[in-house]
Amino acid sequence: MKLDSIKGLGSKTIEKLNRLGIYDMNSLLTYYPFRYDIIERSDFSKVEDQGKIIIDGIIEKEPNIFYFNKKMERMTFRIHTGERIFQIIIFNRGFLKNKLSIGTKITVSGKLDKKRQIIIVSNLYFGLMTEKRIEPIYHKVSGLSNKQIRKYISQAISLGYHLEDYIPNEFLDKYHLLDKETATLCLHNPMNEERLKRSIQRTKYEELFIYMLKMNYLKNNKKNHPGLERKIDFNLINHFIETLPFELTKDQRNSIKEIYHDLTSSIKMNRLLQGDVGSGKTIVAFISMYMNYLSGYQSALMAPTEILAIQHYQNIQVLFKDYPIQITLLTGKLKAKEKREIYEKIKSGEVDFIIGTHALFTDDLVYKNLGLVITDEQHRFGVNQRSNLKNKGFTPDILYMSATPIPRTYALTLYGDMDVSNIKTLPSGKKDIITTLKTEKEMKDVLTSMYEELKKNHQIYVIAPLIEESDKIDLQNIYDLEEKFNKAFGKLYQIGILHGKMKSKEKDEVMQKFQNNEIQILISTTVIEVGVDVKNATMIVIFDAERFGLSALHQLRGRVGRNELQSYCILISNYEKERLRILTQTCDGFKISEEDFLLRGSGDIFGLRQSGDMVFKMADLKQDFHILVKAKEDSFEFLKKLPSLPKEEQVKYKNLMDRASSLD
Ligand code: ADP
Ligand code: MG
Repeated sequence: MKLDSIKGLGSKTIEKLNRLGIYDMNSLLTYYPFRYDIIERSDFSKVEDQGKIIIDGIIEKEPNIFYFNKKMERMTFRIHTGERIFQIIIFNRGFLKNKLSIGTKITVSGKLDKKRQIIIVSNLYFGLMTEKRIEPIYHKVSGLSNKQIRKYISQAISLGYHLEDYIPNEFLDKYHLLDKETATLCLHNPMNEERLKRSIQRTKYEELFIYMLKMNYLKNNKKNHPGLERKIDFNLINHFIETLPFELTKDQRNSIKEIYHDLTSSIKMNRLLQGDVGSGKTIVAFISMYMNYLSGYQSALMAPTEILAIQHYQNIQVLFKDYPIQITLLTGKLKAKEKREIYEKIKSGEVDFIIGTHALFTDDLVYKNLGLVITDEQHRFGVNQRSNLKNKGFTPDILYMSATPIPRTYALTLYGDMDVSNIKTLPSGKKDIITTLKTEKEMKDVLTSMYEELKKNHQIYVIAPLIEESDKIDLQNIYDLEEKFNKAFGKLYQIGILHGKMKSKEKDEVMQKFQNNEIQILISTTVIEVGVDVKNATMIVIFDAERFGLSALHQLRGRVGRNELQSYCILISNYEKERLRILTQTCDGFKISEEDFLLRGSGDIFGLRQSGDMVFKMADLKQDFHILVKAKEDSFEFLKKLPSLPKEEQVKYKNLMDRASSLD
């Protein structure tokens, strides 16, 4: 059902909802609060100085507003509670002024200055407190309030939209779970804590159940498909390895052997190649493609971004320039005519290596004999791409690569259907990236360090969280930084910017210029992310570093230190020094990911963008690991039973498992 069937929902608001990932009734109703505030009157005598207080009262002095720092405003007024009078201070809520007249009953929560009876308010609700209340808090976009979101949701509910419940009856019974509609209602409008808890539990269970259902489904599929059996002369591989400009590390060689073994055996390969940023996974992938070529099949290498696909394409061409191997690049942005020509060549078997993005698996592309599929930065893709491939009717061997080390127990459960090769050591000669923490006040030092590197003819990445200035959050944006750095360095050096809203052609051009050292300072949002390899870049400066998870920062930092040149990472942040400190102490991605896992739960384990498999709206892999384990067993059992269930049940679950974007 479409959103515009809700009364009063215009296209402007729909646009805002879209930005929250809400496109239809289903995504609206499953747009869960990220937090609940429990509102209960505090006992004043028990609240400590600077402690949290919730209190209700009546306004007895009208608000005054005071403006400062361009965009900040402070509003003050007084309330009395019958027993006491409090001075209320609240920031940036001036728009409420007209509603706060004398006599208005309100409830506030905030921090108490006990001696002076001042409350710095963080939340304000209208009305006195009659009893304990639970207030759902949603992630919002500007111009859309909690209240509005709740209003649309309750309207959607009253329209009687039916939500599909994917927990089979037997498990609903077994665990005494609430049904989906009851639980969803309660999540948006909790009556009491006990109910809310049960609603959350069942929602988590369902998410994990669906996830494990897909995993198990994929695993079963694998068993049904015997792999290609081939003969490959390992001497040819050794010969190729000897021509490389560097020695492979022991782990690289081991991984190559494991892959060789998979390719030559009769079981289909389904292998995850894990290795920290810069550990040299790409060359392992290229050699695997060479093996596949030697046995007469086509290889496809899929990268998550165009920038990365182009980089792989350029590197692999150099590497195999003396070999009669045909290589092509296939991305989404090709002109129709070019695309047709490439499709034709892939179909006829004229090309051997196909490098690209998602475009490699569009429906109308037919391969002659695809023998190997490699996905780089696997964590960026979902289960879905994997099943898409299967829908094409291929049984190629599959290699996934990922730079995000997952703690082992979790990996085994989540990627239970895969074998794993690990590259643990970085190529020798690589130095640790020297990482320092700075505050914005220390910008001068940062500029000095940057200049030191530029003088050595090296290049620099600068990362900022925003593209342009925002009036909502006070974070660095790349346009401001461009101006600043132009002032500092513009006379001597070229500065380029890169962000996700640019056209892909523009992005490529900028990247290419950076590759060629025509740009020395590249200011970018995190689009730069994974995989990009510009060896002459030796410094990365990350603004508002506290905005990112540790693993994400580690990934970003991996853009430098690509060879034996000493590289540097400067993290700029005025907050969270303690959390960020670990990055200055270690370059071991595994340690960092464990730390991240401990600090933040699974939410951030896959870095900035947790696209693909791991996006749960409610569940948290670490906290809810016990539910995951149950869901795994249950889904396994259920899949076995599924063929004997009524036809409509079968269809319901088959659709679920085949659906293209169901986990996002
Ligand atoms: P990642 O594992 O992060 O994808 P890459 O495959 O991009 O890392 O490798 C990082 C850099 O290290 C590349 O420039 C690559 O050429 C280089 N490299 C890979 N293996 C070795 C090695 N054994 N010795 C020296 N340099 C290597
Ligand atoms: Mg890589």
